[in-house]
Amino acid sequence: MNIIDKLERNERLNYEEAIGLYDLDLFVLGKYANKIREEKHGRKSYFNINRHINPTNICKDVCQFCAYSASRKNPKPYTLKHEEILDVVKNSSLNGIKEVHIVSAHNPQTGLEWYLEIFKKIKTAYPQIHVKALTAAEIHFLSEEYNKSYEEIIDLMIEYGVDSMQGGGAEIFDEKVRKKICGGKVT
Ligand code: SF4
Repeated sequence: MNIIDKLERNERLNYEEAIGLYDLDLFVLGKYANKIREEKHGRKSYFNINRHINPTNICKDVCQFCAYSASRKNPKPYTLKHEEILDVVKNSSLNGIKEVHIVSAHNPQTGLEWYLEIFKKIKTAYPQIHVKALTAAEIHFLSEEYNKSYEEIIDLMIEYGVDSMQGGGAEIFDEKVRKKICGGKVT
């Protein structure tokens, strides 16, 4: 039985079949994801209450669309202290957040430990909060900057308390356009 048949019949996929979902057309995948969602939850939608934290805006890259990095349109560079970040998490936790979403620029001045230690501090103080941190572009930056493989960086993130990573940083997939608007950033 192929994957579509199983999805039609609402049957659980095995590991290999689940990997096969990567090869489905996105709209087909979306159709079945929505079918299962509606079967489970009807017309209800659920939202995650999270807090975005941007620890630094100092960036070694210069993307043309970026209004966040300190090097271009925004002249005020900053790097938050860990205590400042923990204060933000503390205040947000009092407002019932379930997740922190940590994303920032490619700052070559902080050191890898600075990134990792803040994950650990948040997770230790707030084990119930889901820590979502770093885009694939940031992981690439850290990998190059500190001479570690992607796997090593991700293993460290997990070890220091990160629960998931983000989908940001992709922006434009067309290589020609991407080179023009964010040359220097990972392909
Ligand atoms: S890498 Fe990110 S923070 Fe840096 S310039 Fe590009 S979009 Fe802005």
